[in-house]
Amino acid sequence: MPTSARILSSTALTVLLTAGAFAAAPMHKVMLLTGQSNKYHDWTKCAPMVKAHLDQTGLFAVDVVTTPAMGADMSGFHPKFSNYAAVVVVYEGDEWPAATKAAFVDYMKNGGGLVTVHDTDNAFPYWKEWNEMIAVGGWGFKADGNIGARDISAGPMIRWRDGKIVLDATTPGGATHPARHDFPIVTRAPDHPTMKGLPASWMHANDEIYSRLRGPAKNVTVLATALADKAKHPTATGEHEPMLMAISYGKGRVFHSTLGHVSTKDAPPYSSIACVGFVVTLQRGTEWAATGRVTQKIPADFPTAERTSLR
Ligand SMILES: [Zn+2]
Repeated sequence: MPTSARILSSTALTVLLTAGAFAAAPMHKVMLLTGQSNKYHDWTKCAPMVKAHLDQTGLFAVDVVTTPAMGADMSGFHPKFSNYAAVVVVYEGDEWPAATKAAFVDYMKNGGGLVTVHDTDNAFPYWKEWNEMIAVGGWGFKADGNIGARDISAGPMIRWRDGKIVLDATTPGGATHPARHDFPIVTRAPDHPTMKGLPASWMHANDEIYSRLRGPAKNVTVLATALADKAKHPTATGEHEPMLMAISYGKGRVFHSTLGHVSTKDAPPYSSIACVGFVVTLQRGTEWAATGRVTQKIPADFPTAERTSLR
């Protein structure tokens, strides 16, 4: 090949590669913040799968930010939230430094995105702004080390009755859940970008129905609920418990998924987070939190009203 032709083909290759790079949709920068769980959960199993689910969309450039271990010095933990379109949190553990909390509140008030997965809503029971971001949360550790910080003083429970949200501030009791099982999830906000196109109901695989979560419950849209069968689970609440929620906080958007229990004793396939219903709502909720819209199609392997589906 003459030299000029070699140069030409090399240039053509560069052009093709560059065109390819520009043809791909711009990636939304997402921080996956993780690093601590309480004794009932295992972030080391959950967070890598959450990252894989987000990567699978091709829409997100995910940086994993890991906190110091539980009990270790947290004073140097200052991630740069403002570099990201959304922050996905798989974390229940030590309090962040006050300056880090303030930076996160500032980030959210100015239009940030937050996604919380399962026991993340157990975190920070006394952080007022966090409770407003997540609307309602579960359990939480008291100052004396006992569990159950989110009691009636934390605010109302969200109930879904007669086709709409009802806030119950008077019935006492904190968070609970029936034993893990497969259960149907019912879409309650079919026009919300996160839910648009999803079936009216689908079977979610082997998870905890988080129940009696409490909090300020402000500016919240219930996206989906689940009702435990009291015949099989006598201690269940008998209420349609919110499973997926969208909350507006300042100019920010929060996607709160109560789904995704993974314990330290669990082995693959980790059905609750391998469930395609969990995967797709996480992927869509993260895009919504990051951008306010959702461009993803509903995949063919989405669970049906009768049948769970795992990836
Ligand atoms: Zn759990």
